[in-house]
Amino acid sequence: MADKSTSSEKLAAAAEATAVAAPLRKIYPIVKYGDPVLEKPASTIKNFDAELETLSEDMFASMYAAQGVGLAAPQIGKSIRLAVVDVTGGKNPEAKIVLINPEVTHGEGEVREEEGCLSIPGFRGYVMRPQFVTVRAQNLKGETFEIRGENLLARAFCHEIDHLNGILFLQHLSMLKRDLIKRKIKKMRKEGEW
Ligand SMILES: [Zn+2]
Repeated sequence: MADKSTSSEKLAAAAEATAVAAPLRKIYPIVKYGDPVLEKPASTIKNFDAELETLSEDMFASMYAAQGVGLAAPQIGKSIRLAVVDVTGGKNPEAKIVLINPEVTHGEGEVREEEGCLSIPGFRGYVMRPQFVTVRAQNLKGETFEIRGENLLARAFCHEIDHLNGILFLQHLSMLKRDLIKRKIKKMRKEGEW
């Protein structure tokens, strides 16, 4: 009995230590296509406070939970110019990128690759994106920085910045393909599957 209580105390202590090291993150539900928040330009962020830092960490957690490589604030119903990107899917903590008020300042080359979106689950389409992009953004302290991305990272930057401008990848597809997807979603919505 004494042993048992000792081990449960140890467990409790370990749980407490874990809680201190990694606070529980809020996992936001992802807003789906059809919600107007996804199709309006988001507002510029002016306050670089602790709340913004918490939100960005919660967005990483929400993105990993949904197995995405990028997430923009409108996708969790917040119309502000904040996006998170991690093309390693959480494998490398150094790959976490927070973009606040980002803009693409330079693009080069063209790559046509299949793309999807957490807000349009189950649908993919080929989208032409630059092979290299330079993005200017602010970090959580409000400092301006520039970051260059290639291939998947360049695609993720463009996709997320599009979100902040109210643009979805559907808008880059042919009209035929876009209408086909929209019709399928409409049907799914009617059947309560969306
Ligand atoms: Zn998306």
